[in-house]
Amino acid sequence: MDWLHEVASGKLLVSDGAMGTMLQSLGLGVGQCPELWNLTHPERVQQVHRAYLQAGANLLTTNTFGGNRIRLAAHGLGNHLAEINRRAVDLAREVAEDTAAVMASVGPTGALLEPLGDLSEEQAFEVFSEQIDALREGGADTVILETFMALEEIVIALRAAKAQGMRVIASMSFGTGERTMMGVTPEQAAATLVEEGAQVVGANCSTGAQEMVPVIQRMRAAVSVPLIAQPNAGMPVLLEDKPVYTQKPAEMAAFVPHFVQAGAKIIGSCCGSTPEFTRAIASMLA
Ligand SMILES: [Zn+2]
Repeated sequence: MDWLHEVASGKLLVSDGAMGTMLQSLGLGVGQCPELWNLTHPERVQQVHRAYLQAGANLLTTNTFGGNRIRLAAHGLGNHLAEINRRAVDLAREVAEDTAAVMASVGPTGALLEPLGDLSEEQAFEVFSEQIDALREGGADTVILETFMALEEIVIALRAAKAQGMRVIASMSFGTGERTMMGVTPEQAAATLVEEGAQVVGANCSTGAQEMVPVIQRMRAAVSVPLIAQPNAGMPVLLEDKPVYTQKPAEMAAFVPHFVQAGAKIIGSCCGSTPEFTRAIASMLA
């Protein structure tokens, strides 16, 4: 399925929901590396993909959010980087077949850029390039940059993806006050990311659907490319130090018309969501 063509011709698409919290419900321990499951528990990763596909997702996201060298090395898995990312694309594509498209997930490096941290721009470009190269070799043609909070960092990732000829969906996480944790506004994010060549821009994770609607509206006023909205299942509450998401699928789906009105062309969900959210979003869109 050529998702970009579908979106360009005016179709509204449903993207899938959370991977990490779903894998935890299937036995992934807290603090364990979710991406390692591409190699050790491929059937469970595919079980999640299949559940989202059956719930109506048109776009499946690979289990590679933390598949970069810095994050994998923290788990002692740096040597398996290429294998982990390539296999993840295989797993999603096997489930998607011709009925859905696959977005290869790329998250932040996990390290802070200079001068806040000690990661140089060149090093960050290397880190993103290495992961994206493996995803491309695995057969991905689309990268979704997600949950970024620093504009400098997502721009470096975007340049790395464009350098390899990838289609790019660029999504940042906004907090209260409609800014990212680093202070980026929706207008700044959207304008910069489109200028750098992103085909789709938008927001994911963040605080919840209600707070994300004005973020998407502000992006729509700034740029004309298709927008993507993937909120968390509400604002998490801490229960014994673990984030718990309390929103119900129907509660999130109630915001779908608002997202459509705000200009979103791809709607999905993020942390704490399940295939039931995807089903509710898909039936609301239909
Ligand atoms: Zn999230």
